[in-house]
Amino acid sequence: MYSDVVVAGGSVAGLLCAREIASKGYSVTVIEEDYEIGTPEHCGGLVSLSGLEELGIIPFRNTFDHFIESANIKSPNGNNFTIDSKKQKVIEISRRELDKQIAFQAQKNGATIKVKTSFQEINDKGVRTNDEQIDCKIFVDARGVSSLIHKDRTGILSSAQYEIYADWIKKGKVEVFFDQEKYPGFFAWVIPSGESKGKVGIAGKGINVAQVMEELLKDKGDFSVIRKIFAPIWIKGPIENFVEGKTVIIGDAAGQAKPTTAGGIYTSGMGGVFAGQAIAKFLKTGNEKDLEQYQKRWNERFGKEFEKQLLARKILERLDNNTINKLFESVTPEIINEISEKDDFDFHTGSIIKLLGVKGSIKTVQTLIGGELKKLLN
Ligand SMILES: Cc1cc2nc3c(=O)[nH]c(=O)nc-3n(C[C@H](O)[C@H](O)[C@H](O)COP(=O)(O)OP(=O)(O)OC[C@H]3O[C@@H](n4cnc5c(N)ncnc54)[C@H](O)[C@@H]3O)c2cc1C
Repeated sequence: MYSDVVVAGGSVAGLLCAREIASKGYSVTVIEEDYEIGTPEHCGGLVSLSGLEELGIIPFRNTFDHFIESANIKSPNGNNFTIDSKKQKVIEISRRELDKQIAFQAQKNGATIKVKTSFQEINDKGVRTNDEQIDCKIFVDARGVSSLIHKDRTGILSSAQYEIYADWIKKGKVEVFFDQEKYPGFFAWVIPSGESKGKVGIAGKGINVAQVMEELLKDKGDFSVIRKIFAPIWIKGPIENFVEGKTVIIGDAAGQAKPTTAGGIYTSGMGGVFAGQAIAKFLKTGNEKDLEQYQKRWNERFGKEFEKQLLARKILERLDNNTINKLFESVTPEIINEISEKDDFDFHTGSIIKLLGVKGSIKTVQTLIGGELKKLLN
């Protein structure tokens, strides 16, 4: 079999890339090792409406559940504040449905999608899958974090996310829990998918995620678990080269998820869009400079913000519970109001700076992280 492009990984990045390539009339085959697009779902489903629009997606009725109204952020000692997120237009979507919606777009443009087909190896003529050889000009690696595990384990955290039914989950109200002893270097979250149902997740360095999850749930109250997933997340930012010869790496496989939250529907998805457009141009001209445009465009859009997010992550990793508690005490209604009014879900380091008390100059934090803070402000 021949296809101009073979994409390994039929999720958000791979399918968007295929959609772009097919829309320019080139043949593209997406191979997905699972038996169904969108399954197993390993995502909280939080995404900004503006991000989805930039990806070229107007969510179908069964993809989009509801708007997120607020995020309640809790410190280790239980202190908390609530950000009003209505202005940010963040929605909760079903990833199972979103991925299928993008698959439909790709198919309509002329892409071929094959499930239960796994990438095995690259060879002289193209790629070998579990059931056939596909000759191609370009191979796209969109295999998610699994592609990075072999390259660098130091950027990977373990995460667990359970879908649960519980009366204490309120539609539209996200919860975030910071505690460096329980979730070192990360946090726990509750993302509602409706009234009394949603996703509870945790991630952290060197923790037994199943055990820590049980403890979190026990503290929250009655619940029933209807689904459990355990998945690695990547928090180390973009890899150095998105293009290696005729192999193009996109999405989480290229480290395009946010280093602060590991959210990647938008940023990894845009990797797929930029790559697809660059590949189509390259197939037309044969000029490798056109392929290089992909990394250039992604960096222009997200490079600076990701550098800042990496710094914010470095700072978080160095804060102990005591310092976090102090930071929470210094959060004023004015700061909360400013964040509620101006925060951008996708480019959120501005809000992190405000929360770190840069304006309020908390002494402990300044001494601890003064150098990094200065860089974050630049
Ligand atoms: C617990 C959790 C919660 C998250 N919550 C959010 C959130 O709320 N908002 C947000 O924006 N992001 C969230 N993310 C991140 C988001 O899910 C990813 O950034 C996004 O899915 C990346 O898309 P991708 O296409 O790059 O990779 P993936 O979605 O990881 O897709 C990779 C695909 O490649 C396939 N594959 C792997 N190996 C092979 C092979 N050898 N052959 C063929 N196919 C293969 C896999 O089956 C998979 O379908 C979350 C992640 C986790 C783990």
